[in-house]
Amino acid sequence: MPTLYLPDLLYTEGTFRPGLGLLVGDDGSILRIGADLATDNLMAVKMPGKAILPGLVNGHSHSFQRLIRGVAEHCGPNGDDFWAWRNTMYRAASQLEPDDVFDVARMTFLEMALSGITAVGEFHYVHRRQDGTPYDDPNLLAKRIIDAANSVGLRVCLLRVAYARAGYELPPNPGQQRFYESCEEYLESVDRLADDLRDESSTVSMGVAPHSIRAVTLESLKRISAWAEERNLPVHMHIAEQVAEIAACEREYGLSPIRLLAQNGLLSDRLTLVHAIHTSPDEVEALAKANVTICSCPTTERNLGDGIIDAEKAIEQGILFSFGSDSQATINLLEDARELDYHLRLKRQRRVLLDGIDGEDMAARLFRYATAGGAGSLRMETGLLEPGRPADFFSVDLQDVSIAGVAPEELLSMIVFSLERTAVRDVVMNGRAVVTEGRHALADEIVSRYREVAVRTISARS
Ligand SMILES: [Zn+2]
Repeated sequence: MPTLYLPDLLYTEGTFRPGLGLLVGDDGSILRIGADLATDNLMAVKMPGKAILPGLVNGHSHSFQRLIRGVAEHCGPNGDDFWAWRNTMYRAASQLEPDDVFDVARMTFLEMALSGITAVGEFHYVHRRQDGTPYDDPNLLAKRIIDAANSVGLRVCLLRVAYARAGYELPPNPGQQRFYESCEEYLESVDRLADDLRDESSTVSMGVAPHSIRAVTLESLKRISAWAEERNLPVHMHIAEQVAEIAACEREYGLSPIRLLAQNGLLSDRLTLVHAIHTSPDEVEALAKANVTICSCPTTERNLGDGIIDAEKAIEQGILFSFGSDSQATINLLEDARELDYHLRLKRQRRVLLDGIDGEDMAARLFRYATAGGAGSLRMETGLLEPGRPADFFSVDLQDVSIAGVAPEELLSMIVFSLERTAVRDVVMNGRAVVTEGRHALADEIVSRYREVAVRTISARS
């Protein structure tokens, strides 16, 4: 039986509108949006005092990194930077059994769901046993991540990572031995995954993710990109997060990573580059021309001391953005959205730099990146509340202390810049109730299982 959701306000076509219902079919898709849709043959869900918005799309996640939240905030004897943090992260990755991968991912995805995220792109690179030997099924751990998303109720695009080496002229790094596969092994693995996912639900999809220019050679990158192009799948890659990796690429190829991609015809609208912080105007121009998405992860980038992307210039050049929670230092995609402007404010000692570019309101733009931008990057139909699209949305309590007392015209700006998780009340993915009145039915079990894994791996670390 179809379900009719009746909130006070509904965000559609770029604005909050009162008095509209959202009619969802049994297949989880939006049938209609309009007034006076109530009939006898449907279930009506009245949502007084609430507004509903399209679900947030988290474009870049490494779910297992939730394990080192809070424990990587101590400075080592030689100071701390991205590379020191990475060693802590490798120690966590080295300890996880398949069931641990599932339990940690469920915890991460639970937190996402509770914050209004309905879809995630999981950039997954732990493939092998602790000693570096392959599992019988090379996608065993990838499938445990998919199981976790299904269990929690998130739409997932499993971005299976290719990781072949430590870096240019670097010996294999023992901390990475669970990640390594040759290009041949990788292509066999993604072939198998594509076959195995054929009968999965419509809420599960896949893409390829050459980890970085550092970890994948140009020749492998070309083969992996061709494999994805044949199947019209998304390609995601880390790029220009750290200055050192750009210098290494220039030593190996005589070109920066983005110039290398451009010169080899590897820029396309199926490509998403994660971070892209340290770039020149001509590089950004090349990305914009090719309709490449930049997935920005400001809450992680501030945590790791990566740098600040010049989003103003990138947007002026026509770049499309999405956002990712990446290292899970915090999981709040709207915080990532607001930081895109806040970081520039601190740097330039000015305010609201991203407002009014091409006539678009800043909050509308940032929210678009956090929803449709992420969906486009993952090649998902979600991200907008429109008939024919999946019913992926979240509701907010208009009386919540973080957002109460604003006119509908300013509500989106209030939500983007000030919403706290307490305001998120209901989350629906593909017509399925995932969170109801701020509660997830499996929360207690998920948190207690996660605690067991965290205590075991944290104690093993010391
Ligand atoms: Zn990442």
